[in-house]
Amino acid sequence: FLDMDKFKLLNDTLGHHHGDIMLVEVANRLKFSVREADSVARIGGDEFVLLLEKVGESINEASQKAALVAEKIRAALAVPYHILNHVHHSTPSIGVRLFGADDNSVEDLLKHADAAMYEAKNGGRNQVRFFDPDLQKVLESRAAMEADLRRALDAGQLQLHYQPQCDVERRVIGVEALIRWLHPERGLIPPLEFIPIAEESSLILDIGCWVLNTACRQLAEWQKQPSMRHLQVAINVSAHQFNTHDFIKSVQTAISAHGVDATALKLELTETVIVNDVEAVKAKMLVLKAFGVKLSLDDFGTGYSSLAYLKQLPLDQLKIDRSFVRDIATDPSDEVMVKAIIDMANNFHLQVIAEGVETGEQLNFLKLHGCEAFQGYLFGRPVPASDLNFMVEG
Ligand code: C2E
Ligand code: CA
Ligand code: CA
Ligand code: CA
Repeated sequence: FLDMDKFKLLNDTLGHHHGDIMLVEVANRLKFSVREADSVARIGGDEFVLLLEKVGESINEASQKAALVAEKIRAALAVPYHILNHVHHSTPSIGVRLFGADDNSVEDLLKHADAAMYEAKNGGRNQVRFFDPDLQKVLESRAAMEADLRRALDAGQLQLHYQPQCDVERRVIGVEALIRWLHPERGLIPPLEFIPIAEESSLILDIGCWVLNTACRQLAEWQKQPSMRHLQVAINVSAHQFNTHDFIKSVQTAISAHGVDATALKLELTETVIVNDVEAVKAKMLVLKAFGVKLSLDDFGTGYSSLAYLKQLPLDQLKIDRSFVRDIATDPSDEVMVKAIIDMANNFHLQVIAEGVETGEQLNFLKLHGCEAFQGYLFGRPVPASDLNFMVEG
């Protein structure tokens, strides 16, 4: 299992065909690293599966050979990519699983290779990891966490914090609702530790519904307060949730149940929403737009997004991912990327907001290139609703 980090398919974004060229280059490097009889498959975005047959006579020989091949592939993919006068870097993470006695199905094989790949990522990327039986324990603890999380939802242990979004004058124009889990023993658990687990089951739908209703209840409160009634509230919607049949209905129900002005509600969607059926996604978006709801494309630039798709979608906003903002002052390719995103947003008459703004230097760069909305620690961290009043009223 192989995942390319920072492998941004830059198609269109830079006005050339960086993404396609990079993809061909990756495919070539993979092809030259394995034998003719081996299989290489791209399973989506920047993830690949390689199947090497008959790597050795014994388990020992097979694992040694697999380690050699994996290391060879890692090294080959880590060499910088020179594409149309730009240099792109990538740090692949590789997980290896030998098809042995313990896996009795192809599903297990893939699941274990995937788990090893996540270990490689967590271990700092640009690494090769073998599946370790101890990882089985990790898988089990994830299952336990899922059960815990379901109870947490019922027991009211989930909370929303709100992070300010500001304009060029540093006025708070809106907030993003970000979920937290207040665990009785472990304290405040950040979403990246439990949302991915929830995403693997229908739990994400229940959580998503809770978020929608909790944010609308809060929005209704704010809309009663003169100093807060101008705020936009953005919530994160998982692709899984967006693609359910009753998503539209759940949004409509939340809006009317809490009596909120829907034009203040913004949904942050990621590119994963639109990889499938663009027409269906577009139709859904148009219904939401008709309610007055705003749509923002989150984590923009990190996935496979083709401009051809984007142009068709009724979006209001593009959100520049914080991985680009972080390095704008030091990484020339991120600088190019950020400029391109802002230009593109302007051409499409989309508002652009940058997330993860931490320094005055980053802010100045963004302002200079025409970005007009910002979110990040420079303006304020996510806080409970009650603490937000002070930030807005100054
Ligand atoms: P995201 O949507 O990209 O949210 C922005 C993340 O960046 C938040 O992390 C926020 O606290 C963090 N952040 C904001 N400003 C800065 C900054 O200046 N510097 C740095 N280093 N970080 C900053 P958080 O709250 O840990 O959330 C992580 C992710 O979890 C979110 O990424 C989102 O994908 C997911 N998430 C959060 N709440 C929800 C939710 O209610 N539903 C769903 N489906 N996902 C959620
Ligand atoms: Ca990836
Ligand atoms: Ca977001
Ligand atoms: Ca992001």
